[in-house]
Amino acid sequence: MILKLEHIYKDYIQGKMTVPVLKDVSLHVEEGEYVAIMGPSGSGKSTLMNIVGCLDRPTSGSYELAGEDVLSLSENKLADVRLNSIGFVFQNFQLLPRMSALDNVALPLVYAGVRKKVRRERAREALVRVGLEERISFNPSQLSGGQKQRVAIARAMVNKPKILLADEPTGALDSKSSAQVMELFSKLNEEGVTVVMITHDPGIANHAKRVVDIFDGEISERGEAVQ
Ligand code: ADP
Ligand code: MG
Repeated sequence: MILKLEHIYKDYIQGKMTVPVLKDVSLHVEEGEYVAIMGPSGSGKSTLMNIVGCLDRPTSGSYELAGEDVLSLSENKLADVRLNSIGFVFQNFQLLPRMSALDNVALPLVYAGVRKKVRRERAREALVRVGLEERISFNPSQLSGGQKQRVAIARAMVNKPKILLADEPTGALDSKSSAQVMELFSKLNEEGVTVVMITHDPGIANHAKRVVDIFDGEISERGEAVQ
C-alpha cells in the first residue's frame, strides 16, 4: 500500500477556539490507483492534501507512505520525501515567473543535485511528454493557463515520483485545457503513477478510477464512480 492514513484528525487553532477540520479520516491507496477526492469548498480537501503531501502534520492519527511512518520523520527527511516521492500540481500552477518553462521544470533536479547538462536533458524530455517542445524557452507570462499547467505537470514528474498529488488542477482552466490535463493524468496513471486528485467538480472527479467524497472533514467511499 502506497498511502495508508488512519484516523487522521486536524484541528486549527483560531484565537481561543479549536476548529476541527479533518475528523477521523482513514484513506488507503494502493500503488497504481487513480483516486479523486471530491467535496465542496471548505470541506477540508486542501488540508488533507497538505497532510498527504507531507507539507503539514495532522493533530493526531497515523500515516505511512510506502510503508514508512512519515509522521516520525524530521523536517529534513520530510523534504526528501516530498522531493523524491511526490509530484505536486496546484490550481494556480506555482511556476516561477522569471524563469523559462525549461528552468521551471528543471528546478526539482537542482534540489536533487543533478548536474546541469542532465537537468536540461531531462527537463526537455518532460516538456516533450506534455506536448510543449515548442515552448521550452517561454516564460509563464507567455503561456496560456493550460500550457502553464502542463509545464507544472512536467515539473511534478521530472524526478519520476511514484505519486502525483493534484489540488484542483483544472480549477483555473477552460474546458479544453481541463480535458488535456485529464488526458495527461490518465496517461501517467497508465504508466504506473499513483494519482491522487482533489476537486470540487464531479465531471473532473469522474476521470479517476475511484472517487472518495469529503464533506465537512469526513470522508466516505463510493461503490463506483458515477458516469
Ligand atoms: P477546501 O480545500 O476543501 O476548500 P480547506 O482544507 O482549505 O478546504 O479548509 C477547510 C476548513 O479549514 C475551512 O473552514 C477553512 O477555513 C479552515 N482552514 C484551512 N486552513 C486554515 C488555517 N491555516 N487556519 C485556520 N483555519 C483553516
Ligand atoms: Mg482547497
